[in-house]
Amino acid sequence: MKLLPPRETTLDLIGNTPLVKLEGPSREAGCEIYGKCEFMNPGASVKDRAALGIIRDAEARGELQPGGCVVEGTAGNTGIGIALVANALGYRTIIVMPDNQSREKMDTLRALGAELVTVPPTKFSDCNHFVHTSRRLAEETEGAIWANQFDNTANRKAHIDGTARELWEQLDGRIDGFTCAAGTGGTLAGVGLGLKEFDEAITIALTDPHGAALYNYFANGELQAEGSSVAEGIGQGRITGNLEGAPIDTQFRISDGEGLKWVARLLREEGLCLGLSSGINVAGAIALGRKLKADGVAEPRVATILCDTGFRYLSTLYNPEWLAAKDLPVFDWLRED
Ligand code: PMP
Repeated sequence: MKLLPPRETTLDLIGNTPLVKLEGPSREAGCEIYGKCEFMNPGASVKDRAALGIIRDAEARGELQPGGCVVEGTAGNTGIGIALVANALGYRTIIVMPDNQSREKMDTLRALGAELVTVPPTKFSDCNHFVHTSRRLAEETEGAIWANQFDNTANRKAHIDGTARELWEQLDGRIDGFTCAAGTGGTLAGVGLGLKEFDEAITIALTDPHGAALYNYFANGELQAEGSSVAEGIGQGRITGNLEGAPIDTQFRISDGEGLKWVARLLREEGLCLGLSSGINVAGAIALGRKLKADGVAEPRVATILCDTGFRYLSTLYNPEWLAAKDLPVFDWLRED
């Protein structure tokens, strides 16, 4: 394997993540399924890319000045990315998070030096929603910018310029399909737009968890949610600025149970410890691989995103009491009976 040359700065550690063939999912789908190892970014999630892209864009537009502050509302991973990038560039960070997200993310944000503000989880239409609270805080804070990851398309641009190009190069231009779930939609739309620039024939699929409205939107034009999910960071109820014009060819809906099954299998059979959005993405990639085969594509190759590390969810996904309280299956090896 070719070793990468030294990177010039710590920020150059973001992106250029490895791609790995996933054995179990490939066998299950009867085609090649690849996972982009975004948990290997310095902040251990795909959101480091958006954080860097948004901050560099704000600097280039002259909005973020030396010694300034970055404010954001986030399920946690974007905040962790912003805190690391801001530390490296000398900015302050203020993060607003709903208080039902994992303990580990909150502890991590505090440990990184971010100022953390938690709010109760509410509907987006509520003025105290974490997104609106973060916008207000940015307006009130001297020298601050609002990262606005949902509607700021510097987010998806990081995936057009980075993730999509990397996937294309890592697979030598032999890729038939890509799918992932959407939080802001930056990854899905950015990788979709970027891959379509290389080859319009690549199928881009949305993988939606239950409780999100996008599956129905792309299937029949109605933004309507059904059910619920405990997956953090995904599950969108509106067309964000990043999702506008996303080239979605087809869509799948994946349950938490199915996603958890793949989190368990990837851990026990392939040694990857991941969060639930990764498990849901892998289940979606299997569905896409099967669909492409059924549509007559010979030996399809499908890629998806392994969004973040499971170490971020030890108190939830890997905690038998938490799983039992949510009526979710406890992993076999964690069962005490
Ligand atoms: N998985 C996890 C764990 C996340 O934190 C996020 C970001 N909210 C996503 C997936 C979705 O990424 P995006 O915002 O690019 O849609």
